[in-house]
Amino acid sequence: MGKPTGFLEYPRKSVPYREALARIGDFDEIYTPPAEDALKIQGSRCMDCGVPFCQSDHGCPIDNLIPEWNDLVYQGRWREALDRLHRTNNFPEFTGRTCPAPCEGACVLGITDPAVTIKNLENAIIDRGFAEGWVKHEAPAQRSGKTVAIVGSGPAGLAAADQLNRAGHAVTVYERDDRIGGLLMYGIPNMKLDKALVERRVNLMRDAGVEFVVNADIGKTHDTAELREGVDALLLATGATRPRDLPVAGRELDGVHFAMEFLTANTRSLLDSGLEDGKYISAKDKNVIVIGGGDTGADCIGTALRHGCKSVVNFELLEQPPDARAADNPWPTWPKILRTDYAHEEAIAKFGADPRAYAIVTKTLIENGGSVGGLTAARVDWRNEQGRLEMHEIADSEQQWQADLVLLAMGFLGPETYVSGALGVSIDERSNYRAEHGSFATDVDGVFAAGDCRRGQSLVVWAINEGRGAARAIDEFLCGSSRLPAPGLSLGATAP
Ligand SMILES: Cc1cc2nc3c(=O)[nH]c(=O)nc-3n(C[C@H](O)[C@H](O)[C@H](O)COP(=O)(O)OP(=O)(O)OC[C@H]3O[C@@H](n4cnc5c(N)ncnc54)[C@H](O)[C@@H]3O)c2cc1C
Ligand code: SF4
Repeated sequence: MGKPTGFLEYPRKSVPYREALARIGDFDEIYTPPAEDALKIQGSRCMDCGVPFCQSDHGCPIDNLIPEWNDLVYQGRWREALDRLHRTNNFPEFTGRTCPAPCEGACVLGITDPAVTIKNLENAIIDRGFAEGWVKHEAPAQRSGKTVAIVGSGPAGLAAADQLNRAGHAVTVYERDDRIGGLLMYGIPNMKLDKALVERRVNLMRDAGVEFVVNADIGKTHDTAELREGVDALLLATGATRPRDLPVAGRELDGVHFAMEFLTANTRSLLDSGLEDGKYISAKDKNVIVIGGGDTGADCIGTALRHGCKSVVNFELLEQPPDARAADNPWPTWPKILRTDYAHEEAIAKFGADPRAYAIVTKTLIENGGSVGGLTAARVDWRNEQGRLEMHEIADSEQQWQADLVLLAMGFLGPETYVSGALGVSIDERSNYRAEHGSFATDVDGVFAAGDCRRGQSLVVWAINEGRGAARAIDEFLCGSSRLPAPGLSLGATAP
């Protein structure tokens, strides 16, 4: 701990985003470059607690060595901070930008004061590492002679590939899309995570020996059984790609789309042509309603604003969360509080009002000249007469809303099953591939599963946790033992 009184002397100060009205004029990243002195001051706020809850079960899912690198940043020892960070996290430039930071919710300082800006520090360490040319992926000194195929190139597949390659196995990642990265590439929009950063990391992994095959839809363009027979182990990291639908009248109308159709087409067109090819769903001059919140809903709002939408509203079925922790949501659990994300800020700056409407359910989509022109929605109450949690519609609360573009962002229902079905992998009661966290083994010998396809829709940091864990399990399966770190047991680990 470099400065014992840091937390008493300095307030929390996050690295600011670019000004909201300026940043909606482009798809560049929303972040501003941090000042080194300001980062050091924020690092000095870490109390180096006896029990660092930021690394506990409620904190960072990959056990990032947070107090260590907070202190190293304070001391200006960036290179060592980077080494510490890479011991537990293969891709800090992804989590440093996209993670909701459960570590900060569990920060001990957060009991009395605003938490340490852990995520900002993580991002600064890795950005500095790349700027200085310190980030390298070396090919392993020795190869094991074993082969692994990974289906899916999201953060789970990439983390597993990186770890298995370091352990000496020959790894090939198959991706059905035309670019590597999964939702890092085609879900999370460019303003939150620049796609050049995904490609930069993928290129480093390629240089170190990982093979990537794009446009390879396993189970369609490639025979699944043949793929399994040709390798020593197979990892399914196919994501939770089945979107929840809205089964109401008018669902088939033009102008009603799943969020992922909207977001994927936008990023592809942006990367292919700077949106010149017109191969995306434009929100320009449209009244947009996004049904469903979370990251996906927010990213739809941010993208619609950048297209120049006329208005944007975001429906949320649940009640508005409280501004501060409720009594049944104590520290160090994840704070279930109202968060105003980058896209909400932007909508407020542009239209002068928060786009979110809470406790509202869509009843019908209304046609106007063959396309969607609006919808009807009713208000819901989440408490019954006894005060218990039970949703019911409020009588006579139906209202019409104007909308020329309706985006469905109501979550995901697990993985598609054409790969697992061909292999005979079981599905669990939550419609995910059945495999335990820890072993990551499915009920088919030599076939493993990790990430959103196993745990259900989740977070980038959990996908990295699962990819790393599955890599260790596969390494053990192939070699009888493993020196790769187990998830949640990163201390004393040997790689990376
Ligand atoms: C719009 C959106 C925004 C998000 N924002 C955030 C955020 O800000 N922060 C955060 O932490 N999390 C966020 N998430 C969640 C996060 O992106 C996911 O939890 C994470 O990407 C899951 O990683 P994964 O590797 O398991 O799967 P994915 O990233 O979904 O990757 C799975 C890959 O498998 C491929 N695939 C599937 N089937 C096949 C097949 N048969 N053959 C070949 N390839 C196949 C898919 O094409 C896909 O590329 C967001 C999710 C969405 C949808
Ligand atoms: S990965 Fe997420 S939880 Fe872990 S230290 Fe970074 S921001 Fe915090």
